[in-house]
Amino acid sequence: MTTTDQPRTTSGLGVGRSAAVAPLAVVRPAPVIPPDALRLSDPADAWPARETALRALAEVADEFLRRATDAPGALGDVLRSTSGMAADPDLADRISARISRGEGPAAAVDGAVGEIIALLSAAGGLFAERSTDLRSVRDHAVARVLGLPAPGLPELREPSVVCAVDLSPADTASLDLTRVAALVTESGGPTGHTAIIARQLGIPCVVRAAGVTLIPEGTLVAVDAATGTVTADPDDSLVGSLRARARTERALAADTAPGATADGRPVALLANVGTVEDIEQLGPSAAEGVGLFRTEVLFLDAVRAPSRDRQTPVYARALAAARGAATTIRTLDAGADKPLAFARQEPEENPALGVRGHRLVRTMPELLEEQLAALGAAARALPSADRGRVRVMAPMISTAEEARVFARLARAHGVETVGVMIEVPAAALRAASVLAEVDFVSVGTNDLVQYTMAADRLTGGLHDLLDPWQPAVLDLVAMVARAGTAADKPVGVCGESASDPLMALALTGLGVTSLSMSAPALPAVRHTLRRHSFARCAEIAEAALSARSAPEARAAALALADPDVIGLLRLDDAGV
Ligand code: PEP
Ligand code: MG
Repeated sequence: MTTTDQPRTTSGLGVGRSAAVAPLAVVRPAPVIPPDALRLSDPADAWPARETALRALAEVADEFLRRATDAPGALGDVLRSTSGMAADPDLADRISARISRGEGPAAAVDGAVGEIIALLSAAGGLFAERSTDLRSVRDHAVARVLGLPAPGLPELREPSVVCAVDLSPADTASLDLTRVAALVTESGGPTGHTAIIARQLGIPCVVRAAGVTLIPEGTLVAVDAATGTVTADPDDSLVGSLRARARTERALAADTAPGATADGRPVALLANVGTVEDIEQLGPSAAEGVGLFRTEVLFLDAVRAPSRDRQTPVYARALAAARGAATTIRTLDAGADKPLAFARQEPEENPALGVRGHRLVRTMPELLEEQLAALGAAARALPSADRGRVRVMAPMISTAEEARVFARLARAHGVETVGVMIEVPAAALRAASVLAEVDFVSVGTNDLVQYTMAADRLTGGLHDLLDPWQPAVLDLVAMVARAGTAADKPVGVCGESASDPLMALALTGLGVTSLSMSAPALPAVRHTLRRHSFARCAEIAEAALSARSAPEARAAALALADPDVIGLLRLDDAGV
């Protein structure tokens, strides 16, 4: 590293507070075929065009085979079979035929692969699942024909900062996360899927960092989620301070006492998870239970709806992994930002306002039936005294009537503890009637902010509106908490806002009884809560509610928080 160069820093929105220093690996987008490459300008070019296309395919087949030899287990098998697809003589014949009809080599590869994808999709099942691999063959071959850099995820040979314009859920899922030191994207928002996965895994992440994909591949970069900055060629002092912060975070993680304020008011600290492995990896007593199991994550790649028989063992394993702790399983939240192939709806103008989450019960009631049946079977396999810890909750509930129908169905399937998420302002406004139907509610602030502020959570450009410190959002959370206190029923928060230590104080002061977040965020929240009395939390909540804007609300909370905690955790930085 040079210390004479000026650090080049790009600002974005940080996710969490962690940091990393590692070389940059850029994810290239799929190539776009320029209009003048669609057709051959001269039929006499057909022969060299065929040569170019078939050579590109052969090189892609070799490349996937080479990667297969280095890749472990199942990934190696997938890469080998993808190499076989690139070498398929039928594909070569289709490409030759298209070139004979005057298509350019890149367009012929694109069209021929498209034909095979259509055939596989029509065949359905496992065949259809291979379409993604074929698309990857197409993108690599077309890029070679056009002389562009290889598209898609880079092959990570060492811990790297992975950077992209945006990452789809499928891109993120196929990354070798053990070698991802940090994630940086140019677009996306702090509650989008990349941010959620990064939080889940404790990977430092900065979204909306404009221009980061222009930093040359391999450059050493420092990613600081607390300040939302990405610095190319960082100097020694920056690297030193980031390492010191990492040591502080590690020290806090050694404390696993139950969540409580300084004067002993309990606030259960729970984990948000997306897979059974996430639960298995929770250290003993790091979390007091699972506050949100996003079950749609289990089925991101499934093309057919999972049967109850396929789901039951998954939930049984999840319950076993939770070792007797309360486990809140959310029913499938498909649609809008979480598309699932088997739950696709008629095209909608505004999917976030359409048939998503619990509303799928209107069009595909069998999905909920099968899931509740599977969960009921897993719960009934537990000793009867242990069944109450199996909690189910529905996403995107808008009315007390929806809550009533959901609760009746869940109980009929043998799940004793039933709740719903409060993510829609209508449900917050009518929290008392919703609570009358269920045993608990959990506020999903990611969606509650989106719907309260009428700002798409995937559009990071509206992040000032998407701020959970917006007083209107705090008002709604306060209403729900008051309704919970009056009904003597638990009110949790499981949106990403719960992982902000300062917000955790405000939520506690509002009367929220549990906070659920990605596990890496728990130590800082636990430490912060323990350093503040409930009375101080209530003052913080009151000050935030009285503010006129989100920045004022956060500043008001900061002014009342313990300066030692602020300094230790750098809460005065702009992390989200
Ligand atoms: C939320 O909306 O706050 C939430 C926890 O659900 P998700 O982020 O999965 O939509
Ligand atoms: Mg939600």
